Amino acid sequence: MWKRLRPLIIATLLMPTFLLPALSWATETEDEENPPAEPVPVTAVDQTAQPADSSASQAALRLLSNTVEPGSFNTLYWSPEQSFASIATPVPVLVAHGAHPGPVVCMTAAVHGDELNGIEMVRRLMFDLEPKQLNGSVIGIPIVNLDGFRRAERYLSDRRDLNRHFPGNPQGSSASRIAHSLFTDVIAHCQYLVDLHTGSMARTNLPQLRGNLKKPEIVEMAKHLGGITVLHGAGAQGTLRRAATDAGIPALTMEAGGPLVLEEGAVDYGVKALQTLLDSLGMKESSRFWSAPQPVFYESQWVRASQGGILLSNVKLGDKVKTGQVLGSVIDPISNTGSAVLSPFNGRILGMAVNQVVQTGYAAYHVGVEKAAEKVEQEAEAAESQAEEQDKDGPSTSQSLDE
Ligand SMILES: [Zn+2]
Repeated sequence: MWKRLRPLIIATLLMPTFLLPALSWATETEDEENPPAEPVPVTAVDQTAQPADSSASQAALRLLSNTVEPGSFNTLYWSPEQSFASIATPVPVLVAHGAHPGPVVCMTAAVHGDELNGIEMVRRLMFDLEPKQLNGSVIGIPIVNLDGFRRAERYLSDRRDLNRHFPGNPQGSSASRIAHSLFTDVIAHCQYLVDLHTGSMARTNLPQLRGNLKKPEIVEMAKHLGGITVLHGAGAQGTLRRAATDAGIPALTMEAGGPLVLEEGAVDYGVKALQTLLDSLGMKESSRFWSAPQPVFYESQWVRASQGGILLSNVKLGDKVKTGQVLGSVIDPISNTGSAVLSPFNGRILGMAVNQVVQTGYAAYHVGVEKAAEKVEQEAEAAESQAEEQDKDGPSTSQSLDE
């Protein structure tokens, strides 16, 4: 793998650094809330251009105004510098800096403060690492949105969604400044990023990856996570993984379970996938070189409730469904009339709403069809441009609903 990556990394290192921010600049769209960001310098970490070689010596890691020695585990703090009444709340950043050179893998959790499964994934993965045996570094931020986490809410205190403001802007809104600070202080040091999420607003997701499969480096990265479900999507403007991808850092979102709960099955599955990533990047001394199962790529669509009322499901997450199968029904409790929500095609339930009261048009079931990665990529391209014209506010074919 290193043989394949080496020319890319060397090319990146040789590229004048002013060109890198220019790439992310070019993809910015202008809007009132989020004016174009200042260019974010992407720090190339030259030590990782070498293959994971346990005999080579590792340099100290400079991060968040600290020097982290090789072979050590540290808790650093990132201060977003945005706070009520100047009371800053430093956010803990866990760093395992390996004794030997290798890639820098980052994991972020609870960018949405009510999404708990990722917090537990980061804890399990980080405290299982042995820095003295590690090739490269693992940086884990268990709770990015500490502010939302304390209130058990998805958003920041100003009701903004932090995951719509990356890479941020130091002169923008509060959310945009926080995003910019995280992006420059931590994310720019990463060579791979996995941003951990769950379903949103009383929806739950089968563990799955989301990434821009039009980029070969992201397809490659997804393959390192083993036999997990992968969905294509560029990601909504302002999502962390999209901004990282635009800045040249291969990034994936992992969705697993629902908000406000800790789900052992989802956590366990996610940790296994993340460990497979570290293994297949050759970061663990004890790497077993077994071939990981291949990921399964999906194309997907949300199915919406055609009326308001009480939604009761007939299916479970992960179920295989057939065209026309009743996924659930929505019943009006006053008139006692109802309608069935039907599957538009043969597929699998990748995400769904929990039983609840819904309004007309509520995205209730996320149904996916297995496809070859290349096919997903081609068809997604056509579907995306169509969807952009038809439905600018809704997730008819995209997966940006939860992220
Ligand atoms: Zn989320």
